[in-house]
Formats: sequence, structure tokens, C-alpha cells
Amino acid sequence: MLENLKEEVYKANMDLVKHGLVIFTWGNVSGIDREKGLVVIKPSGVDYDVMKPEDMVVVDLQGNIVEGNLKPSSDTPTHLAIYRAWPEVGGVVHTHSTFATGWSQAGLDIPNIGTTHADYFHEAIPCTADMTEEEVNGAYELETGNVIIKRFEGMNPMHTPGVLVKNHGPFAWGKDPHDAVHNAVVMEQVAKMASIAFAANPNLTMNPLLVEKHFNRKHGPNAYYGQK
Ligand code: 13P
Repeated sequence: MLENLKEEVYKANMDLVKHGLVIFTWGNVSGIDREKGLVVIKPSGVDYDVMKPEDMVVVDLQGNIVEGNLKPSSDTPTHLAIYRAWPEVGGVVHTHSTFATGWSQAGLDIPNIGTTHADYFHEAIPCTADMTEEEVNGAYELETGNVIIKRFEGMNPMHTPGVLVKNHGPFAWGKDPHDAVHNAVVMEQVAKMASIAFAANPNLTMNPLLVEKHFNRKHGPNAYYGQK
């Protein structure tokens, strides 16, 4: 079942290795079939070296296993919360990539201070609030999804397709698993560039006009970036 999506999700997980975003068993990618209401996700704790497309696990939006011999990713409830909240999302990624995780651990939003950032993320990439004792001791992974969704109140998640979960690491999303991985790779680069820029000049600034220009030339109603 969902063989094409399994292949796509497997490949997206392996792309995290290719782009240097994960080591060992860290991180996970999922993709959704919206018509069927089913999600395909990486199995938990399986090394990328030995993982195969058929190891991908199929779950429904409530987290029931529909197909698969392995346990789904421990972060499955976080992915599902994002799919339930935001119907435009077709793929979700979590990593512990170094620079984005550094900002998560610092507990800081990554401000929009360059055109690389503005090309992909309209706002600052937000960092979530501290989780309460009840959230950590309760349905922790579901609550992680809930703090992400709460942080995006008043924001368009498709215009800023990533978040830093405080003291944990980045989650990114996109229209499909490949797009979500693309955004996760860009988020890591943007976090790295911001670290260098703030180290060089803690008082740096960016004209907000430049943010609008770059975001809108790729994603605005009159976007003109790329080929027709
Ligand atoms: P899983 O192997 O369960 O997906 O966990 C990886 C991870 O990065 C947990 O945050």
C-alpha cells in the first residue's frame, strides 16, 4: 500500500543524510496522502545505513498503525498534529542539524536578516515556548506539536515553513516530503549564516523592504523568479 509514497518518504529521509543534516538515527521525514488520510513515516531508531523503503510505516491521522512491521518514529504524534492543523502541508521533517539546533538551544527566533532567509521564510523562524511539566510528563510528542501550532497563531505556516522547538531542534514542512527536506536544508544554512553574521556584528540590520522584495519575487502574487 502507498508504495510510491513509501519510496518518496524513504528517499527524503536518505536526502537528510546526503545533505549532512542527520547522523546515526537522528531525525525523521513523513509524507501524507490527503485523499486517503494516511501518513507514511520513518521507523523509530533504525540506522539510515540499513533502512529500506519497505521499512516505512503507514499510520492514520490518529496514529494507529495501518501497515508496517516496525514502530513508527517517536516523533509521529508531532508530525500528525502538524498535518491535522495545516491542510496545505504534505511533508514534515525533523532533524538535529547543528546550527538550527544551536538556535533552538539558545531559545531564540532566527531573525530575517538576509535574502537567503527571505527567499524561503517570510518571518523570523520562530522558537517555541518552554514546555510545561504537564506537557513534558503527558503526551510529550503530541504536546510538542501543540506548542508549534500555538507559536504559529497569526502566522501563515506555508510562508514560514519551519520552527525551532526550544531546547530540542528544528521541524520544517512543505507541500511534499521533498519540499520539506529542501526547507530543512535551507533552514540549516540560514541558521549558520545568522550565527556568523551576529558573531561579526551583533547590531546588524536589514531593510524590511528587502525582505518583502525577496519573499514576493518568489512567492507573491506577481512572483517572477525562475522559469515559466
Ligand atoms: P526516531 O528515530 O524515533 O524518528 O527519533 C529520531 C529523533 O530525532 C528524535 O527526536
